[in-house]
Amino acid sequence: MPHRTAVAPEWRLKEGRYNLVGSKCACGSLYFPARMYCPACKKETTPHKFSGKGEIVTYTVIRSAPAGFEEYAPYAVAIIKLQEGPMISGQIVNSPEEVKVGKRVTPIFRKLTEDGEAGIIHYGIKFELEE
Ligand SMILES: [Zn+2]
Repeated sequence: MPHRTAVAPEWRLKEGRYNLVGSKCACGSLYFPARMYCPACKKETTPHKFSGKGEIVTYTVIRSAPAGFEEYAPYAVAIIKLQEGPMISGQIVNSPEEVKVGKRVTPIFRKLTEDGEAGIIHYGIKFELEE
């Protein structure tokens, strides 16, 4: 099964899946997701790694989950304002009862789904409440 050995280079896994890589402009503006050009000053941006730490701005509790996520329901999905400024949405792994607006979160990387046929494992970012 040669296709199973076609693994992405280490750096791609690191940069794309285990980090939150957005972009930064010389003017100081930060973008997540990344933008190639800064809308403010039209300059080309450079990659910028975000901490993933932030604060819950708002959230919703999913009680009837989409196919493939049933085992996780109910779960909270929040809009998080990163400490660097941009907003990101993501699932909170804690019990929905613990989730509150204004609570601080830290990122974790979890396996989301596994495609048995192709042997592809999809990773994604989730968030955990900080104590
Ligand atoms: Zn700019």
